[in-house]
Amino acid sequence: MIPFVREMTFEYGRPDAVSPLIRRVVAHNPGPFTYLGTGTYIVGHGQVAVIDPGPPLDSHLDALLAATAGERISHILVTHTHLDHAPLARPLQQRTGAVIYGLDEPLSQADEGEGDHRADADDTPRFRPDVAIADSQIVSGPGWTLEAVFTPGHASNHVAYALREEKALFCGDHIMGWSTTVISPPDGDMSQYYASLDRVQAFGFDVLWPTHGPPITEVAPFIDAYRNHRLAREAQILAELRQGSATIADMIPRLYRGVDKRLHAAAAHSVLAHLIHLVRQGQVRCEGEPNLTRYFSVISNSTIGGGA
Ligand SMILES: [Zn+2]
Repeated sequence: MIPFVREMTFEYGRPDAVSPLIRRVVAHNPGPFTYLGTGTYIVGHGQVAVIDPGPPLDSHLDALLAATAGERISHILVTHTHLDHAPLARPLQQRTGAVIYGLDEPLSQADEGEGDHRADADDTPRFRPDVAIADSQIVSGPGWTLEAVFTPGHASNHVAYALREEKALFCGDHIMGWSTTVISPPDGDMSQYYASLDRVQAFGFDVLWPTHGPPITEVAPFIDAYRNHRLAREAQILAELRQGSATIADMIPRLYRGVDKRLHAAAAHSVLAHLIHLVRQGQVRCEGEPNLTRYFSVISNSTIGGGA
């Protein structure tokens, strides 16, 4: 069982000092993928960095400007380009002159299943930061040092940011305290996701600050549980396929029994992500490129992944 953390004291638009160096302002965009809304972090005092400005809401722009009145925003850092994280970066830059760091929006983001993705990719230009950040690159200001930690998986361009002074990680949507993360191919990639979980675990952070929901303070056991949840899902999928070949639609009602049906479409993408990973590992066979409508079968003489 994942030891989820969901309790959070906040008010929309109100800056809360949540650690010596960190303030959080929550945007008014609650929903099935965003939980209470996007938590934008302000790092430092006087000259500050803003992490994940959030969705294009005037109320949130006003709240961020009010929270930093009399200070200077020098850096805007984006964890990834989903619509609840990045779009307010340009409007905030226009008001502050800050430099935007992150990675370009991938072309494949347009056709993903997660509800917070763009609807009309043709009309909206792709998000591009001013500075394409490099893995392990440092940006800093007075009293704060942030290091980019590439963490692909939830999105191919996902970057977390470590705050060295507090042994903390702004982990975006890579790890969330309130829920598991959506891994939606083609941009989401389960093999990369596992590797990114291992990478974050190896740092030994004291605290994780997800974009949605409260911080995770029991970091190592939480990540272990998060990984074990995925491995258990893999074992369930293999067990399903041992009954005979199946499509994802065949498996979803059984794998996600008791889960809100509104989440089944996203769950289908997550199962596809697992299946792509299992095909790569040689445990599962698919005729053709894996997708939502293909039949999958287990490779019967597989000696790994012993099932549930
Ligand atoms: Zn996201």
